[in-house]
Amino acid sequence: MSEGQGPGRLYPAEWQRGPRYSGAYSFARCPVTRDLSLADAAVIGVPMDMAVLYRSGARFGPRAIRDASGQLRPHHWEEDKLEPPFDTLRVIDYGDLDVFPGYIEQTVAHLQSELARIFDAGVFPIVLGGDHSTTLPVLRACAAKHGQLSLVHFDAHPDFWPAADASRPVHHGTVFRIALEEGLIDPSTSVQVGIRGSISAGILHEVRAAGFNVIACDEFAQQGVAPTSQRIQSVVRHPVYLSLDIDCVDPAFAPGTGTPEVAGITSREIIELVRALRGTSLVAFDIVEVAPAYDSAEITALLAANLVYEFLLLLAHRGP
Ligand code: MN
Ligand code: MN
Repeated sequence: MSEGQGPGRLYPAEWQRGPRYSGAYSFARCPVTRDLSLADAAVIGVPMDMAVLYRSGARFGPRAIRDASGQLRPHHWEEDKLEPPFDTLRVIDYGDLDVFPGYIEQTVAHLQSELARIFDAGVFPIVLGGDHSTTLPVLRACAAKHGQLSLVHFDAHPDFWPAADASRPVHHGTVFRIALEEGLIDPSTSVQVGIRGSISAGILHEVRAAGFNVIACDEFAQQGVAPTSQRIQSVVRHPVYLSLDIDCVDPAFAPGTGTPEVAGITSREIIELVRALRGTSLVAFDIVEVAPAYDSAEITALLAANLVYEFLLLLAHRGP
């Protein structure tokens, strides 16, 4: 893999040319462009954290994930089994979308129209949040393109709370209730994994009553990766939207987030859970709630960058 392998085909910068911490601000040194005709997949930043209820700072998530992605090389551990994603997939870094600090509704509407362009171009979006409200406009644009979706949602929290005030419906804890009310997702073919903690306990009965499949973190800890993955695979049916809130991971592995919950998934387990989604009909990914101000030695951002790499591998090997 190198630059200039054929006309009109962009590749990440040659990994042996120039230090990996140099060059344009870009995921894994992928080319920065807004020309969607050059791309199969686009990494897209949404630097927004005005919808959080507790600690802010996820606006710097896209920047931190891109920084940490300087560690990545195009090879994969199982290279004899899996081609590196950039050989089969044209990946661009689309840059960050505009957000309007202080204006959630306007920002959400703008993001939805930007994402609609990307879906209409047939480009697969990989969205770097931002707080979890980032997901709402992506889900809306995705469902407009693909119809009702199966949601695979890794999170410590179900994000299914009702709005405290109907005039202010959107915050990062209301996203999946709104998505359900709007018919964007089918709860019976959707699954939430990693739910735990005192915050989530108060709402879980409503999530289950709404028809969602829930694999709480205690249940995951008892069952392990393989049975959990089998259950996820058996639940999903429609085009699959994968939304990964980094706080699904234990704060020992991912402290850099706004609402950490103890006793979570390990970094190794979340990578295995994502790998086990191979074969599902994925249509969009997001990774949200990385807040680098609370991070330690960049471990959260590094995990997030590696999860994006796993997303790319899933995408490159999802078959026809
Ligand atoms: Mn969340
Ligand atoms: Mn969460």
